[in-house]
Amino acid sequence: MRTIGLVGGMSAESTRLYYDAMNGEVRRRLGGLHSVQVIIYSVDFAPIAQLQSAGRWDEAGRVLADAAMALQRAGADCIGLATNTMHKVADAVVAAIDIPFLHIADATADALIDAGKRQPYLLATRFTMEQEFYKGLLAARGLGVTVPDDRQREAVHRVIYEELCRGTIAPASRAQFEALTHDAAGRGADSVILGCTEVGMLLCADNSALPVFDTTLIHARALVDFALADEMRAEIQGEA
Ligand code: GLU
Repeated sequence: MRTIGLVGGMSAESTRLYYDAMNGEVRRRLGGLHSVQVIIYSVDFAPIAQLQSAGRWDEAGRVLADAAMALQRAGADCIGLATNTMHKVADAVVAAIDIPFLHIADATADALIDAGKRQPYLLATRFTMEQEFYKGLLAARGLGVTVPDDRQREAVHRVIYEELCRGTIAPASRAQFEALTHDAAGRGADSVILGCTEVGMLLCADNSALPVFDTTLIHARALVDFALADEMRAEIQGEA
């Protein structure tokens, strides 16, 4: 098994979900006592969040590039950033390493296209919903992304940073997110991207009016695909 390098802590809540999802995926595929081979560099999120809100993305990019380099030195075979928002600085991370970088938006676009979806509704931080670094990649794959209106975006952003990233799950916020999926379904969306790695704490297939594409689970699966590429190839050859 190849070793995954995960830059996490953004927030710690979602890194836990990644760890569980990666282990679940490895166990499902290999069975027995198998578990994921991963090195996690979990940063302190408070200074990162301050740099985000101050628009000091270059400095945040340097912190994450340093973390990715440390993972590479420690023996990681690939790098994943366990957050959608911080893919805004993906180029800085990619430039700092010479192992593969698995982008969360690429994995998400693949999952949507494979499922025949074309009109996803994106729930994420304001940065991800409003800027081009993420939506642009999805649009380039032919996906017609829509987002909540300004007031709703503010509410979603607030729930992410003030509740979910702090480990708080509020029934009123869950109801609010559920209502947003109903609203979007009524306006023609064919799917919802949980485009923030904590949103799965509130929404899942059971309480969404739209088919759910949870970026945490999708990205975790893509990382495991990379980690198990040799095992999967051997299995296919064995079956042939
Ligand atoms: N984890 C969130 C995301 O996927 C938000 C926290 C952050 O800003 O990194 O965007």
